[in-house]
Amino acid sequence: MKDKWTKFCPKCGTQTDELFDSLCVDCFKREIKLIEPTVISVSICRTCGCYFKGNERTSIEAVVEATIRKEIGKKYGCDSEVEIKELKMEDTRAHAVLIAKAELRGVPLTENGDVEVVLKRESCERCNRIAGGYYVGIVQIRADDRIPTDDELAIAEKVAHSSLIEPEFISKEVLLKEGLDIYVSSMDCGRRISNAIVRRFGGSYSKSQKLYGRKDGRNVYRISFSVRMPGFRVGDVLEIGDKRISVEKMVEGRGIEGVDIDTDERVFLSKRETMKAKRV
Ligand SMILES: [Zn+2]
Ligand SMILES: [Zn+2]
Repeated sequence: MKDKWTKFCPKCGTQTDELFDSLCVDCFKREIKLIEPTVISVSICRTCGCYFKGNERTSIEAVVEATIRKEIGKKYGCDSEVEIKELKMEDTRAHAVLIAKAELRGVPLTENGDVEVVLKRESCERCNRIAGGYYVGIVQIRADDRIPTDDELAIAEKVAHSSLIEPEFISKEVLLKEGLDIYVSSMDCGRRISNAIVRRFGGSYSKSQKLYGRKDGRNVYRISFSVRMPGFRVGDVLEIGDKRISVEKMVEGRGIEGVDIDTDERVFLSKRETMKAKRV
């Protein structure tokens, strides 16, 4: 009985037991090129400096990895691993040094290579929207039967900013006689900010929406989040004009009954008057 036929690699003539695509393992490997030169481009925002592709925020590494894996998949029909070892940044381009790993016909392959990434300076969607004053909703911060204090509004503003999750933004803040309006880029962040302010101060919020117009055949709404910080409470001492009033009773919907601390006189403050009062 004869053993297997002796096989020779037709390319290099080496004797071998196993052929891969009719070649010895070394020639087979040599024929494969996982990393091909290819045009990769990533946009970089000239305003905020973020990297993006289309409307999606991304990173140079993520784009290079996805592109190379896709190319390998197209060419060899297999999955691969791509690791970026180094990224050299220049002005309008980046140079990525990488390693690609794949397995073909049971042969594990590792290849080092590098690719150029063209950086296109553009404006990202978020910055375009900020520049255009874009907003979806307004968080209206008020207090029941009183005007929120400057301190409260300063804290509320801080709470609002720290509630944002990328890529949300606040496009405008308007200080009003009765409180603060914060213009926000999404309904989710409007809700999150409202919740956070209520968690911080108590009170409550309600949501309402108004038809703003139509875009691409769909109704576009603007949402108002009406945040109400708690009003005065029994036991608070209020300053109104040159009087100091101790709050004795809240009269739902009408005002406050209290006592003038200096004269011991009983007084009634209407809602309009309590709006001018400050807690001391
Ligand atoms: Zn060979
Ligand atoms: Zn930007």
